[in-house]
Amino acid sequence: MNPKKTKALLLQKLYEPYKECLSCPLAISTKHTVVCGQGNPNARLMLIGEAPGKHEAEQGLPFVGKSGMLLTKALACLDIDREKDVFITNTVKCRPPQNRKPTHQESKAYKYLLLLKEIEIVQPKVICTLGATALECLLEKPITMSDFRGKTLSFNGITLIPTYHPAYILRSPQHFEPWFRDLEKAWELAQQK
Ligand code: URA
Repeated sequence: MNPKKTKALLLQKLYEPYKECLSCPLAISTKHTVVCGQGNPNARLMLIGEAPGKHEAEQGLPFVGKSGMLLTKALACLDIDREKDVFITNTVKCRPPQNRKPTHQESKAYKYLLLLKEIEIVQPKVICTLGATALECLLEKPITMSDFRGKTLSFNGITLIPTYHPAYILRSPQHFEPWFRDLEKAWELAQQK
């Protein structure tokens, strides 16, 4: 089989049991759409956010609300097509009640249930975490974004670029420039590797 198609099929198989939202940690409290990863399963760059919001849960797609629009525009400015060039996913795949931040327990549960498997299938050259939740989930420790942004780390041998969440940029536009440069760096490194 075409190896490019294999990753898409493996992801499809991975997500299949969660379509009915029976066995994910947040399914215990409310009924919701499971928002799986989107984009190119063969992408060299994977972007990881926090959790779906209202719009994402309505459409079943990651980053389609206000912060998603900002992310999509920033990627487009770098000539990156979010569907063709990158793979976008979230730490937690269901919208937490009242849009609260996912707990560490929930992030960890999703990490082992889905996120690590997505990473294993896609095998990105570079991961860019958007916000503290995704980075804390990968590193399994509480972090302060200002200690990590601008650094180049490694996760299981994959280059890891931590940056701000686009929702934070909407609230604090003065951080747009470094955020945009981080996305650019992640993209450039992914092309080089
Ligand atoms: N915020 C996230 O972290 N992910 C989304 O998909 C949307 C908003």
